Amino acid sequence: MLVIQPIGGKDDWEALFHEAGHTEHYAHTSESLSMEARRLGDMAVTEGWAMLMQHLVTEPAWLNRRLDVPRPADLAHDGAVSLLYFVRRYAAKLLYEIEFFQAPNVKAMRGRYAEILGDSLKLPVNPESYLDDIDGSFYVTGYLRSWAFEAQLREFLRSELGNDWFAKRDAGDLLRELWSLGQGPTADELLKDVTGAKLEMASVADRIREGLGS
Ligand SMILES: [Zn+2]
Repeated sequence: MLVIQPIGGKDDWEALFHEAGHTEHYAHTSESLSMEARRLGDMAVTEGWAMLMQHLVTEPAWLNRRLDVPRPADLAHDGAVSLLYFVRRYAAKLLYEIEFFQAPNVKAMRGRYAEILGDSLKLPVNPESYLDDIDGSFYVTGYLRSWAFEAQLREFLRSELGNDWFAKRDAGDLLRELWSLGQGPTADELLKDVTGAKLEMASVADRIREGLGS
């Protein structure tokens, strides 16, 4: 079951599709796997499936085919700006968290939080969040790698099945097969098996550039 608190606008669609990506992944995960392979493992895998679904909402081919929106290119541009913001924010959060957990004096990190994130985002950052804006177990790395996983898998799906890959039966067959593996394999292993490629953060930059150019 998927429960979403709507706030209005495009963000609701993105949240719905993101969480639906997790739902599809876990719903199709094979029951015969061990608990560790079903529920633990590399969180970049489930976040990657969530990102693959979430980013459909700003994908011109999907918008043209599925929704009657007047300016899909504007939404694609907005999606790329939003992805750029989040990637820069999470890259900065990773730097901050590495420093945070080594700091002899935690209170001194209040200023560093605003400095590191502000420098990355080029926006003012509220230092008050220096303790609560931390995800446990370096979960930020799961998000960062999930963006690369999504970018590379999308590129693969487009090259194999065309820009409207999401409407192809072969895409559904492949996704269901990959979802059935749960989180036994890591995102790197899954990507290597499917595309032969290594997980590369540079793919995220390429994806953002494509979106900004459209
Ligand atoms: Zn998620």
